[in-house]
Amino acid sequence: MSTPPERKPLPRLVDPRKLAVQGARFSGSVPTEQMARLAGVVVSADSAAEAELDFGRDDEGRAVVQGKVELGVELECQRCLKPLAYQLAGKVALGIVWDLDGAKALPRQLDPWIIESESSDLYEMVEDELLLALPIAAYHDTDKCRGAGSYSTGEVSDSAENPFGILAQLKTRQ
Ligand SMILES: [Zn+2]
Repeated sequence: MSTPPERKPLPRLVDPRKLAVQGARFSGSVPTEQMARLAGVVVSADSAAEAELDFGRDDEGRAVVQGKVELGVELECQRCLKPLAYQLAGKVALGIVWDLDGAKALPRQLDPWIIESESSDLYEMVEDELLLALPIAAYHDTDKCRGAGSYSTGEVSDSAENPFGILAQLKTRQ
């Protein structure tokens, strides 16, 4: 996986309403170690996500944040259960609202970001957007997938059938 360029970490605790009034723009990183939910569903990930976030108001005066989030990860191929490099990329289009009523009033193109206090966790929002960018299932291209053969690599056993033994066989075949 590629190493992401050094970017300054985003501020973690922010007041989204204030940022929308200010028209604040951020371009920075979120350390992956601060995103435990995401770390729990990927095999591995680059050290930090990149985010570009643009706070402001839409044509109808709603407080919004728009932008994108990206993180290089490895997912488990659902065919062969080996890691698969994948670039998570999510488009951010959120309406900043105070409650469920506000969320329901948003137009279809905006997802709600419900703000319950002046201080909101920006990292949590970025993590949510990355989680939403996860595919339902990930697969290698057929020609690169080790699951195309007849053996199973789903479990580590104590025999010569273990995945590392199979990997070694594949290497010597080339
Ligand atoms: Zn595969």
